[in-house]
Amino acid sequence: MTSKLAGTVAIVTGASSGIGHATARALAEHGAFVAVVARRRDRLATLVAEIEAAGGTAHAVVADIADRTQAERAVAEVVERFGHLDILVNNAGLMLLGPVLDADVGEWERMIAINQNGLLYMTHAALPHLLKAATDGPREVADIVNISSQAGREASANFGVYNMTKFGVNGFTEALRQEVTQKHVRVGVLEPGAVDTELISHNNENIREELASSDAIPEPLQSADIAESIAFMVTRPRRSSIAELWAMPTSQA
Ligand code: NDP
Repeated sequence: MTSKLAGTVAIVTGASSGIGHATARALAEHGAFVAVVARRRDRLATLVAEIEAAGGTAHAVVADIADRTQAERAVAEVVERFGHLDILVNNAGLMLLGPVLDADVGEWERMIAINQNGLLYMTHAALPHLLKAATDGPREVADIVNISSQAGREASANFGVYNMTKFGVNGFTEALRQEVTQKHVRVGVLEPGAVDTELISHNNENIREELASSDAIPEPLQSADIAESIAFMVTRPRRSSIAELWAMPTSQA
């Protein structure tokens, strides 16, 4: 593996499972020091051990980034430890589905808290450091990759609030891209279709059964597929910015 990210420092949120876990491993393979952020301490500890056993460098930051103070502390801790920050992958998220009528409003609040607020808090705290890295960091360019979804492009019944959070991520990403790209902070959105992760498991049993019967995708993407796409986005030459990447399984129309 070439060390295109040698000397860089990356934060990956939601690294305790799924896409974030695979992304942390992929960026470490490219030579980045990776700070892995999530709430499940044991999962992060195992991931750090795996990355280090493979010759990489990683650091676990246990944080609930839906909480602004914890998100800000997570970024500060990484910058204090590694001295700078070059890459932020805003991946942590939650997808709780169901009709609007009689919905559990608490589920909506939890989704908005992580899919939108968590992403905003991390971005706000990281941006000054990323702008600095774009001037005097090892690559003179920095990256934000926001993980949206196919559901950020197309709305569907029973996905309403998840759609709202991901459409919001797309809009925010494009606005920020226009603000900072010419300062060499690249801001891109990645919109996966179905990926085989724990994401659906947080839904209640009825929704899980319904998804299994009606919406099952025969061959979903694997987390490693998305990790590879994220690695692609952040390893482009300094002159090149991938603003949007839509990654679908071939078995999903
Ligand atoms: P997982 O459920 O496997 O991973 C979600 C991650 O988010 C976990 O590591 C979880 O860690 C973390 N997380 C959730 N809430 C918080 C919080 N408050 N603070 C910190 N971390 C948190 O799902 P995926 O890997 O599939 O999801 C990753 C992203 O990809 C999400 O944004 C999702 O919307 C998006 N996506 C997924 C698709 C799919 O089909 N799987 C398709 C399109 C987009 P912990 O619980 O330890 O805190």
